[in-house]
Amino acid sequence: MIQQISINKTLGIGIIGTGTIGQDHIKRCTNFLSGVKVVAVSDIDKKSAQNAISTYGLNAKAYESGDDLIHAKDVDAVIIASSGKTHAKYILSSIKAGKFIFCEKPLATTIEDCQAILDAEQKYGQRLVQVGFMRSYDRRYQELKQIVQSEKLGPILMVHAAHRNRQSSENFMSEMVITDTLIHEIDIFRWILKDEFVSVEMIFPRKTSKAKDILQDPQVAILKTRSGIMVNVELFVNCQYGYDIHCEIVGELGIANLPPPAAVSVSQNGKRYDQLFANWKDWFLEAYNIEIQEFINECLAGKLKGPDAWRGYMATFVANFCIQSQKTHSKIAIPIVKCPVFYSQQ
Ligand code: NAP
Repeated sequence: MIQQISINKTLGIGIIGTGTIGQDHIKRCTNFLSGVKVVAVSDIDKKSAQNAISTYGLNAKAYESGDDLIHAKDVDAVIIASSGKTHAKYILSSIKAGKFIFCEKPLATTIEDCQAILDAEQKYGQRLVQVGFMRSYDRRYQELKQIVQSEKLGPILMVHAAHRNRQSSENFMSEMVITDTLIHEIDIFRWILKDEFVSVEMIFPRKTSKAKDILQDPQVAILKTRSGIMVNVELFVNCQYGYDIHCEIVGELGIANLPPPAAVSVSQNGKRYDQLFANWKDWFLEAYNIEIQEFINECLAGKLKGPDAWRGYMATFVANFCIQSQKTHSKIAIPIVKCPVFYSQQ
């Protein structure tokens, strides 16, 4: 039987993981968004949770365990911003407790865990899970999708994309280029093209001297969709010059380009230049704010509409085949899987 979720006017949020993005979400919920109050925080490092309370002046409780936070009475919804490997257990526990969940990507790191989440949510009988694919809240990507789906460009033939970070962290390994970086492109192009990937080949160009031994950088993913569209994505996480995203969609009748983020152009000493953003936080700032505000509004209205667990499942599913290609240096076929009715009818 479906339980009725009843929430007062203000959504009580509990945040698990008070690292980089967890703190960003605390900040936006506390200072910028409406209809929400951060009532609980938890981190494996208790000091980090307590620091978050004092830094952001929260009237919230720091829990030693994420599970205790999930079961707290004043927590209506949970934001999971801990490291990827911990997501599945917190999502499953939150579903059991009948709480709405916003989980940062990835939904889970293994297909088995993703499947367990799909099973648990379907058994519960109501959508509870949203995955943090914030690009679909970015108006530039929304416009690209609208142009593609309006068929103005005719049939789409190719997509050329690039995802560049100024510098990666010390422990960033080759596989993380897929699980942390490419995963955004896997999801957004499934969403824009309304198509499924059927093959992938990961290519390793000449390696930059700026990358550590554990990291092959740059990498290029060449994906093909069921309708034959080729999507190639350059992934370069030590590009040195800034955070940069490119996307060009080529159709039979024209092309569409993702515009650069609005930034002031400076003309000086005979030169004109645009400021680049240093990181993803600034590039997607507006998208993150809209994403979390809509999650709050939808929790209060009792119905989630954002990226669902199926999108999370498919992103991890495709990523797994990309990793296989990375390891075997070969082109890998990706099987088509059927979306459960529960998700296709949402
Ligand atoms: P981070 O700075 O390392 O923060 C993660 C926090 O979770 C750390 O404080 C970590 O503690 C804590 N933690 C680890 N295991 C835990 C557990 N079992 N229970 C509770 N807390 C635990 O990482 P981040 O960059 O914020 O990333 C967090 C998640 O957000 C990742 O899944 C990442 O992929 C995702 N993310 C998404 C985007 C996006 O664009 N949507 C951007 C950035 C990150 P320790 O440091 O002690 O391990």
